[in-house]
Amino acid sequence: MTSTSQDLHILFFPFLAPGHIIPTVDLAKLFPCRGVKATILTTPGNAPSIQPSSTKRMTTPPCATPSPSPSSPSLPPRPASPLALPKFIKAIELLCQSFARVLRELLPDAVVTDNILPWTQDVAAELDVPRLVFHGTSLFSLCASHSIDRFKVLESIPPGSAQSFVLPCLPHRIVMQRSQIWDVSEIPGMTLLVDRIKIFEERSYGVVANSYYELEPDYAEHYGKVVGRRVWNVGPVSLCNRNEIEKSRRGDETSIDCSQCLSWLNTKKPGSVVYICFGSMYKLPIAQIREIALGLEASDAPFILVVRDVRGNDSDWLPEGFEGEVVGRGKGLIIRGWAPQILILNHEAVGGFVTHCGWNSCLEGVSAGVPMITWPMFAEQFLNERLIVDVLKVGVGVGVKEYVDIGAERRVVAGEEIRRAVGSVMDGGEEAEEMRRRARELAEMGRRVVEEGGSSYADVGELIQELIGRRKATGTE
Ligand code: UDP
Repeated sequence: MTSTSQDLHILFFPFLAPGHIIPTVDLAKLFPCRGVKATILTTPGNAPSIQPSSTKRMTTPPCATPSPSPSSPSLPPRPASPLALPKFIKAIELLCQSFARVLRELLPDAVVTDNILPWTQDVAAELDVPRLVFHGTSLFSLCASHSIDRFKVLESIPPGSAQSFVLPCLPHRIVMQRSQIWDVSEIPGMTLLVDRIKIFEERSYGVVANSYYELEPDYAEHYGKVVGRRVWNVGPVSLCNRNEIEKSRRGDETSIDCSQCLSWLNTKKPGSVVYICFGSMYKLPIAQIREIALGLEASDAPFILVVRDVRGNDSDWLPEGFEGEVVGRGKGLIIRGWAPQILILNHEAVGGFVTHCGWNSCLEGVSAGVPMITWPMFAEQFLNERLIVDVLKVGVGVGVKEYVDIGAERRVVAGEEIRRAVGSVMDGGEEAEEMRRRARELAEMGRRVVEEGGSSYADVGELIQELIGRRKATGTE
């Protein structure tokens, strides 16, 4: 801490979806322990999940919850489903006046806002508050998207085609199928949003990324030199949650008693359990849950399966006898709703993670030293999969080759494909062992970089020093 960092104040404004709020709150938690005041801006509907009043051992910064401006919409706390995202992104822009009012009242030294909120740039610039863009994805995926865009790759290959291509001018040889690429031009209004994100990001003060230099050094360099952004790599931000309460009260109330979950894990051998979770929003169709259940039944590995929003009796969506014969005999645990993900991933019994490749989940898997079975669904998840499988070599793909838009019907992956992919990570062959060793190494590296002397710790310090310098230069001290 320096003598002046005590007066520094940073405002954090996450996009209102769990996959964005959770890492932004973790990011905000990095600053008070460095002597910097942090405030999280959110709507009243989201404040309780960020700042649970009942929990004393949490170190979350306070929330600012402005009462809505007359023109503001009454927003639901979060999008009802991935399908509602485009409309929600549009609606949230009507919070512009409230954001401006808070910024004027607090006049922080910097504001960190989500990349999906490009309009915050103009408001911040008008008040001469530097805006930092928070990117909740990998540097690899940012570089890969830039490459696809810059070289207009999608224009020369027909949409949906199985034709493969090499992503131009990236540090590694990355091959993808056209059918795996998220084509924003196919979603109404999305091209406009993506263009605005880019333009306003160029005008921003810089980028804060939830990654660490040693995890993707080539892409940290590439992002700076080729994409041309200043970036502070401050992750893995989830590692700021040190005690059990912080790990279990992250994002939402858990749908399982955490001690029950830990007791169940305690009965399993180290590295034997596979954890299956598809993030905070994606809802598995019943036909897919059944196939996952069949794959898990056929596999030797014990499992924790997280499912969301399933209604009716379990027998309506699980194969016959599964509840009694598989779950009942202690081979599996099903969490219906919200799981204490980082608590589970960091238990020594967990040895594999079936993930949809949302960046938070990928990085949480990496930080826990757990190899992954990758099953991307939408957005930039197919790019994250390439980082995990081809660059870091800590995962195997379940074999999904088609990007399917949110809400559209997708191919049901058969139980046998799932069993095979899980087996290749859990069955202890030479390749699996090598993957496990690399995963442990990355986790160890991740733990070191956030401690004093580590690169992410240093990047947080550099950002703070820079804001102090800016304050002196503008004479606001
Ligand atoms: N998460 C959790 N419990 C759940 C589901 C998700 O704690 O049952 C957390 C997970 O740890 C991660 C975030 O929610 O931090 C999901 O973010 P990610 O980028 O992986 O996926 P998204 O939800 O944005 O699709």
